[in-house]
Amino acid sequence: MIENKIKNIRDTLNKYAYNYYVLDNPIVSDFEYDTLYKELEALEKEYPQFVTPDSPTQRVGGISTGFKEHKHKYRLYSLDNTYNADELRKWYERIQKEFSEKVELVCELKIDGLAIALTYHDGLFIQGVTRGDGIIGEDITQNLKTIKAIPLRLFSTEFEKDKIFNPDVEVRGEIYMPKTSFEKLNEENLRNGEKVFANPRNAAAGSLRQLDSSITAKRDLSMFTYTAIIEKAGESPKTHWDSIQYIKKLGFKTNPHIRLVDDIEGAIQFCKDWETKRFELDYATDGVVIKVNRFDYQNELGFTSRAPKWATAFKFPPEEISTRLLDIELGVGKTGAVTPVAVLEPVNLAGSVVSRASLHNFDEIKRLDVRIGDRVLIKKAAEIIPKVIKVSDTDEHFNLPEYVPPYECPECCSKLVVRDGEVNLYCENPECPAVLKAKLEYWVSKEAMDIDFIGPSVIAQLFSLGLVRTPVDFYKLTYEDFLKLDLVKDKSATNMYNSIQESKMKPLSKFVTALSIKMVGKETAEILVNEFESLNDIINASIEDLAKIDGIGDKIANGIYEFFRDEKNIKMIEEFKTLDFKLENVMQNKTNELEGQTFVLTGTLNSMTRDEAGDKIKMKGGKTSSSVSKKTSYVIAGANPGSKLDKAEKLGVIILNEEDFLKLIGEG
Ligand code: NAD
Repeated sequence: MIENKIKNIRDTLNKYAYNYYVLDNPIVSDFEYDTLYKELEALEKEYPQFVTPDSPTQRVGGISTGFKEHKHKYRLYSLDNTYNADELRKWYERIQKEFSEKVELVCELKIDGLAIALTYHDGLFIQGVTRGDGIIGEDITQNLKTIKAIPLRLFSTEFEKDKIFNPDVEVRGEIYMPKTSFEKLNEENLRNGEKVFANPRNAAAGSLRQLDSSITAKRDLSMFTYTAIIEKAGESPKTHWDSIQYIKKLGFKTNPHIRLVDDIEGAIQFCKDWETKRFELDYATDGVVIKVNRFDYQNELGFTSRAPKWATAFKFPPEEISTRLLDIELGVGKTGAVTPVAVLEPVNLAGSVVSRASLHNFDEIKRLDVRIGDRVLIKKAAEIIPKVIKVSDTDEHFNLPEYVPPYECPECCSKLVVRDGEVNLYCENPECPAVLKAKLEYWVSKEAMDIDFIGPSVIAQLFSLGLVRTPVDFYKLTYEDFLKLDLVKDKSATNMYNSIQESKMKPLSKFVTALSIKMVGKETAEILVNEFESLNDIINASIEDLAKIDGIGDKIANGIYEFFRDEKNIKMIEEFKTLDFKLENVMQNKTNELEGQTFVLTGTLNSMTRDEAGDKIKMKGGKTSSSVSKKTSYVIAGANPGSKLDKAEKLGVIILNEEDFLKLIGEG
């Protein structure tokens, strides 16, 4: 029984490892692999008589794939890992009790790429080898030479020449592909009908394993170096921290996010800090590596058969997990676009239970060959709805029927159409209840009129009672109407009624956003409103007037123009006017001190929200934008700024803190 169970787990893990290491095409998430691996480890500990030499617990990582093999001079180990802070504490306790002095630790991001070892002889790069199984790797020197972050010759201006005389050194690090380059590569491969990679790690591995180096050269690969084994040089660092400084001086790229801490609590804090901040980086990290700082302590602690005892990895909660696709539901949006949504067997992902995920559109379903009943890999990045990224291409999958996109609207049964140059299918029935409801939901949403107390379920009830069909109807509702809804009593009815009435005072840009004009979201609506005095002026503008505006191209201009030529829309606007909507740009006190200046806001401000700061800028004639470019005049950075700050630094854009900003606008 037990022997069989162990064999089954072993076989499953070996299958997963083959897909991961050889095919660069993982079929389950790392979290699932690691969980099963731990189960095997525990069973093997209890029943050592059933451990076999082909067990994944008996070896380090990779499998050979066709390049010339090379035996490493110094073995490359794997790392033990945990997803749990208490286990980190236990690991540290075991170490601390070996030494009388406090054991300092170094925390580094665990880069999710491929480990390689580079040999330099007399300061010259002579060989680069993959980690392989830790003992034997593959010689990929030619391919590595195409990576700019790998120096071909070491020279350091910081060292005195006689002190470091062309070192003999082996350095180790992680080859990775930036996330943006990974996305570009996948888009390009998709267009050319070539292989699409599941994640940046697989893309980096696939790029390095090219037999033709000119292909590797075209891929955007880089390397962070984190270890140096010095054989001949002027100095020999005594700690890991110092060795990183040494590596930097040799001209290698090291990861800037590294911290020396007094004890494990400091390390746990570092892990917590990076659990969410990692999403701002342009490279994938799957955890934090924690290493004992002093080399003499490291030597004393030594290694197990596969990993150092002086280091461990804390892995971030999984971003990916596999589950079963139970169904594909169809949603109808405010534009009539019909979109597929994956209904999943509920799974815990990054701390929340997920039962639905995005499938984007029917082209995506075709590309992934998603079939109802498949096992699928889903992924969650910061604040983004999880999406299906992969389907297991097992026998089970091929036995399922292929998915056939719908041909009629799931709500009103109208025939669906494909619009020119678009991938979506559309329901073009303007009276489709699903489209009408989606428009109403958008009207009350934060981005549009931002009406509190009215959400999708209230709208569904109001709609089915025949009380609202279009947004104008919201403003005709009486207090008594709300009392007709389930569970709504006096207080909620008052809140709902007031909230709707108060929205009449919202700025014109919110009203224009809420109209759901094709391709006009919040930002475009703001641009429009900044150019005109009133909604009437926008309605009367010619296509040429509109297209002239910075930020509005011909297509959008055309869409706006057409929207206001539709009698139904004009009639609706006339009705709003009779309901006391001002529909004028209220920025009468607008000045022009900031004219011609563009601001980008990032992070949290103390004395106001970002929207309020944006309004202040606009009141002074300035503009706001959501992305940083060379044209940006200022970036205003609050607490916990995002990647926009990094970009501003790179481009040399002036960065203001809140205080400077208030001074600039005369409020400091
Ligand atoms: P690992 O990736 O968990 O950790 C060891 C590696 O971390 C090192 O070899 C090195 O490449 C890397 N690393 C990154 N930054 C580092 C730093 N700053 N300092 C030191 N090392 C750093 O272990 P592994 O043996 O390479 O791979 C095993 C892991 O691979 C599993 O735990 C699992 O998560 C994953 N895996 C997944 C599947 C799957 O199907 N999803 C299959 C096999 C393995």
